[in-house]
Amino acid sequence: MIQLSAQARQAMLADCTKRRPEEACGLMLGSMDGDEAVIRRVVSMENVWPVAEERLSRYALDPLAQMRAEQAAVADGLDLVGIYHSHPRGPAAPSGFDNDRAWPRYTYIIVGFEDPANPAPRAWVLDADGTFQEHQIKLANEAE
Ligand SMILES: [Zn+2]
Repeated sequence: MIQLSAQARQAMLADCTKRRPEEACGLMLGSMDGDEAVIRRVVSMENVWPVAEERLSRYALDPLAQMRAEQAAVADGLDLVGIYHSHPRGPAAPSGFDNDRAWPRYTYIIVGFEDPANPAPRAWVLDADGTFQEHQIKLANEAE
């Protein structure tokens, strides 16, 4: 059960909506509760996938920007617990590309836009075999 603060959810959906038709991406910061992420804050990151036209269906994070954002989070007592990105025209299920690039232990939230008026976030975590398993998202109302 992934816990997602209402504020982080709202920021994530707004970022993904605003950046359509390109894929949006960002960091999810918080802490771990056993094997499950508690997401308190998201940080929008530029999609630096090198071929601009392919940013409609691909994303990449800038490693240096990611490192800086992680350092700032640690200073606030938060850890990097995962990455979010959007599928601007498709379902919130991971692609083969997403699977190939995923790291163990991180939570991946994909925001799908099958219905553009109702962006749908779903959470995915690799299992021991390297296959994505869906984890339920529980909305947490606590203020950051
Ligand atoms: Zn994807």
